[in-house]
Amino acid sequence: MRCVKCGKPSELKVQNLEACESCFIKIIQKRVRKELRLNRLIKKNDRILVIDDSSAESKASEYLLKDIIKNLPVKITVKKISYNLGEELNGDYDKIIIPWNADKEDEYFLHAVFQNKDAPYLGHYKLGKKTYVKLLLPVLHDEVILYAKSKKFKFKKDEKKSYVSGLLDKLEKEYPEVKFSLLKSTIEIRKNI
Ligand SMILES: [Zn+2]
Repeated sequence: MRCVKCGKPSELKVQNLEACESCFIKIIQKRVRKELRLNRLIKKNDRILVIDDSSAESKASEYLLKDIIKNLPVKITVKKISYNLGEELNGDYDKIIIPWNADKEDEYFLHAVFQNKDAPYLGHYKLGKKTYVKLLLPVLHDEVILYAKSKKFKFKKDEKKSYVSGLLDKLEKEYPEVKFSLLKSTIEIRKNI
């Protein structure tokens, strides 16, 4: 098979995306850049905290953030802590980058649906004056892992998958792109709240 972007023989395949390594890196960067731009997530003079829980998500987030905002004057702090969705952190920060991905968003959404609960932390969310940014929201877990491996980041493999996350993997096999479809639904829901 061939790379979707340049037509050279593909080296990587994640779900339906086939690409050579250098195009893959660019595709992911472009997707994250678009997410930041569309949601106006980072601006000049922001004080940004990147949470480093040693996951591939946190390593890739730190790298992509620095790569994308190159010339923008901001203050970036990286802290080795773990984080639970919805947790409010202290400190003088405007934005907090949390380790996240598209699978986690789908999982969070489905959990809420199955239990008929609200999902107050869908998308990027605000607590107090701080915005919690899911930098890798448009990137699948498998894509993050591949990205981290391509860039030779050292990261901790994640623990056991939850039931819903396993279910999502099964669904994806049966209905390719279902993870992205679900993600789109969550964006629609956010717009309507
Ligand atoms: Zn290519």
